[in-house]
Amino acid sequence: MAENTEYEALTPETLAKRLSGIKVLNEKVGENSDLWEVAEIGDGNLNLVFIISGKNGKAIVKQALPYVRLVGESWPLPLYRAFYEYNALERMAQRHPGSTPEIYYFDDTQAIIVMEYLDEHTILRQKLIAGEKVQGLAEFLGQFCARTAFRGSELSMQSANKKSDVALFSGNVEIPAITEALVFTDPYYEAEQNHHTKQLDRLISVLRRDVGLKIKVQKALQRFVSNSETMIHGDLHSGSIMCTDQTSRVIDPEFVQYGPMGFDVGMLCANFFMAYFSQPAHRQSGLEEYQEWILNIILEIFDVFNAEFRVLWANERRGLLYPPVLFEDQDHDAMAACEIVLKDIWSDAWTYCGIEMHRRCLSLAHNADFEEISNSVERASLEARNIEMGAHLIRSAGAFDNAAEVCEVARAHNRRDFL
Ligand code: ADP
Ligand code: MG
Repeated sequence: MAENTEYEALTPETLAKRLSGIKVLNEKVGENSDLWEVAEIGDGNLNLVFIISGKNGKAIVKQALPYVRLVGESWPLPLYRAFYEYNALERMAQRHPGSTPEIYYFDDTQAIIVMEYLDEHTILRQKLIAGEKVQGLAEFLGQFCARTAFRGSELSMQSANKKSDVALFSGNVEIPAITEALVFTDPYYEAEQNHHTKQLDRLISVLRRDVGLKIKVQKALQRFVSNSETMIHGDLHSGSIMCTDQTSRVIDPEFVQYGPMGFDVGMLCANFFMAYFSQPAHRQSGLEEYQEWILNIILEIFDVFNAEFRVLWANERRGLLYPPVLFEDQDHDAMAACEIVLKDIWSDAWTYCGIEMHRRCLSLAHNADFEEISNSVERASLEARNIEMGAHLIRSAGAFDNAAEVCEVARAHNRRDFL
């Protein structure tokens, strides 16, 4: 491909010709690019995603567009996000090897990432809507969140490397700004781009009058924008996870920034709670069993995250924080300090969890779990449980000792009628 020329969006018609010279694509797909088959498969809100198939196999080409795909050219968005997504994927692969698609090639000017095609993987959200189970899902996700949180922080990294990484990713301005608006701000007033199920009008108006709640959310936003303790994926919902029935991978970290350790795991749990609350609309038989399977994923993520974090604390604490000279070398219990750090992470995580549950029903980008429910009366009643549970989490985040208590709150909300 002509390097260093001006950016131009790929099309299924132009892709083979333009990318024919990329060696790794010749290896992975086939030498003769005339024989490549190209299809655009992007279902996301932001970018172009192509699958190329050939004699040797398949590959994915993801290209950033200079605007928000969901909205159109009226909402411009910088191409540089591909650079941050690429760098995030590299770091995630280092911090949790095998957790992401393998990266084959990156072109900064064209905002293109060429990566491994995740064969037979589907988006986790679709699996949850279809009532499918994934073996090892919670173990994978708990480890992913713990390893990336720990290994991207100054518990583990050398200070100079961490600081230069924070500086690097601090250039990713506009993409986290979407989160700042759509996740933390818009749900709590009548922002222009918002929409919600009509039957929720009254419940939402009560929520938006709750100043105490808004202050808690703003405090969480304050931590989100100013606490750069680790590199976060930034958009770790069930649409950013692809699975077979046995393996899982994380994709799409363009919302990367250095941020609070509890953010990713909190957003992740929110997406499981939303899958949980939406289930009655998606199936009748096996409903309770499947809902309990989802809650168990949250319980296990909590346990695996904590267990993995403790192991890393004991074995990989080589950064400036909580140094062994202050603890082990003085015969002081370093694990007691670890428990306090974990408690703070989860208090934060439950807050982010509640906020994510809100924004998916109140702000611009809703999720298929609820959106695919065509009967608006039924949708409203399930969304109402989700919104009320979100508010409960935001108000009480610091009071929970474990995920079992939070799941019990979910069960109670799942039994109630809020409309
Ligand atoms: P966006 O940033 O626009 O949300 P994503 O990275 O989420 O784009 O990709 C959009 C869709 O493309 C995903 O939902 C998934 O279906 C598909 N996809 C993305 N990456 C891969 C991959 N490596 N292998 C297979 N499919 C993929
Ligand atoms: Mg996506």
